[in-house]
Amino acid sequence: MKRDALPLLDSLQPGMPAVPVAVAWGDGIGPEIMDATLRILAAAGARIAPQRVDIGEQVYLAGHSAGIAPEAWDVLRSTRVLLKAPVTTPSGGGFKSLNVTLRKTLGLYANVRPCTAYAPWVATKHPGMDVVIVRENEEDLYAGIEHRQTAEVYQCLKLVSRPGCERVVRHAFEYARAHGRRKVTCMVKDNIMKLTDGLFYRVFEEIGAEYPEIAKDRMIVDIGAARLATRPERFDVIVTPNLYGDILSDIAAEVAGSVGLAGSANIGTGAAMFEAIHGSAPDIAGQDAANPSGLLQAAVMMLVHIGQPQVAATIRNAWLRTLEDGLHTADMAGPATRLTLGTAAFAQAVIERLGQAPTQLPTSGFGAEGSARHGSGQVASTVSGAGPARAAKAPPAKQLMGVDVFVDAPGIAPDALAAALAPAADGSPMSLSMITNRGVKVWPNGLPETFCTDHWRCRFLAGESPANVGHADIIGLLSRLVAAGIDPIKTEYLCSFDGEPGFSLGQGQ
Ligand code: NAD
Repeated sequence: MKRDALPLLDSLQPGMPAVPVAVAWGDGIGPEIMDATLRILAAAGARIAPQRVDIGEQVYLAGHSAGIAPEAWDVLRSTRVLLKAPVTTPSGGGFKSLNVTLRKTLGLYANVRPCTAYAPWVATKHPGMDVVIVRENEEDLYAGIEHRQTAEVYQCLKLVSRPGCERVVRHAFEYARAHGRRKVTCMVKDNIMKLTDGLFYRVFEEIGAEYPEIAKDRMIVDIGAARLATRPERFDVIVTPNLYGDILSDIAAEVAGSVGLAGSANIGTGAAMFEAIHGSAPDIAGQDAANPSGLLQAAVMMLVHIGQPQVAATIRNAWLRTLEDGLHTADMAGPATRLTLGTAAFAQAVIERLGQAPTQLPTSGFGAEGSARHGSGQVASTVSGAGPARAAKAPPAKQLMGVDVFVDAPGIAPDALAAALAPAADGSPMSLSMITNRGVKVWPNGLPETFCTDHWRCRFLAGESPANVGHADIIGLLSRLVAAGIDPIKTEYLCSFDGEPGFSLGQGQ
């Protein structure tokens, strides 16, 4: 849906200093729920100056493969805050995820998704649920670095950085402190991914120590996900790497009630984006049937972020009162529903309750006006994830110790492969120390039962004097391997950092 005139926006400038905010109407139900949301914001006196940006289906189809118009970047650069309705990704290949593009380009490192039950007004099996998932938003397997290496094997790189972990973990603790939350649970799989997930948990422990008033907890993500689905009441704030967070936050939203209820904040050092968690719902678009609550909750988070927490609280309290009064959209309809309303009528019901508070659900207060934790009263430059400065550490002493050479060798036995590889190390400080296949050691002393593909990791390691390994040794090794008819398809240098090996030592569990 295209809009040429935006009369609504004029009413949002009540003469107070207004914060410029980029607004994207999106696709499907996007325009309906955005209109409803902006009407409520205007009626509540939100001091924002919306600036329209075009994203979504029409932009994709106009030939911009990321789904965002080039001129929109200028608006985003100047406002640094985006309130975004959902977009439709056209079917067929060649289109990139708009959300991934926005997160990476704007450096939105933390995705914050509160998932709350509103029982008995919205039916749920877990009435006491009140969980906030803080998901790392830029790294992990979402780096999008994938390769096909052999006829049989493909890989996806999981990249985790210390600064990335520090920012999201600090954001989780700052969020907990700012919102009176008592516990932060770190969910990782560091029993298997000891270096990458191990780093995430180590950073959690380091930064968590600066927040003595907040309880800390660690769970392996598999049992953590199971517990979140069955006993969500035991969780408060959860911080977790990107892929786990993606899955956990959908589980949590589903368990809490309707997909139409939850909003999310994508927070960066210099920008922030706020949106509903659901998609563009083309099945109900244009019918005045969509629930605007998810986008409204996102807008409430945005108001806190830009330093208007009292307006945020007024809106949220009116919205809670609307739920308690049994005025629901169709997706929320249940035993507590008194009247099922369309999108516009639901927004009107919230507007009529501005200034009222819920009688049974807990009221919301987000702090004093202009003192929000996540904004300076201007915009997103002072988000909490930046945190207090940490003392700069000297870079660790790095030493090259050897190389893992990955080779493409179909239909060969491990012993025969080792015999073909080993002579290539002659004359270098390294020797062949191990061969694995899909992470399982097959040489020396492999088991005949192990199923092997055509993709082998061959470790050449210096034993006695690692100081002598240089890049030239590795290049020489590779040249000799190729001359011997071996097909290397990738190398990983093996380094130690301050004497600690920077690589996993053997097979996984
Ligand atoms: P969806 O979330 O749009 O819809 C799933 C179901 O939930 C549908 O039955 C829909 O009617 C219902 N629903 C969703 N939001 C609702 C609301 N506010 N009120 C009432 N009912 C609601 O998921 P989908 O159908 O898988 O995806 C549709 C499109 O949305 C796809 O093109 C997808 O790529 C896109 N999408 C966009 C975003 C985003 O922009 N952040 C997120 C998810 C999906």
